Amino acid sequence: MFCPKCRTEYNEGITVCADCGAQLVVELPPLKPETPELVTVLSTGDLSSVALAKSILEEAEISFIAKGEFGMEQLAVGPVEIQVNHKDQKQARRLLMALAEGRSVDDLLDPPPPEEE
Ligand SMILES: [Zn+2]
Repeated sequence: MFCPKCRTEYNEGITVCADCGAQLVVELPPLKPETPELVTVLSTGDLSSVALAKSILEEAEISFIAKGEFGMEQLAVGPVEIQVNHKDQKQARRLLMALAEGRSVDDLLDPPPPEEE
């Protein structure tokens, strides 16, 4: 028997983890995939840029975290870092770059034009 929370192994007959009180399971669920490698694609103290970047990433369905942003106290903190999954890095950077160039959000979400040689 295993505790699904702390992954401690117990002898049969025990049903509850002594450490965390969780119901033991016969088999441990597979470990969650490791935290994906996060890459900072934007670091700015300009909260309107942060808000814009977040909305565009949301629109593009790129998951991200905003590091350094703490709810209502965000006005008092330093630069916010927008971090995305390593695999989304390219797309996120493309979007943010276009954003910085002042293109409209609708433009950004169109597929990129085919590259010309
Ligand atoms: Zn436990």
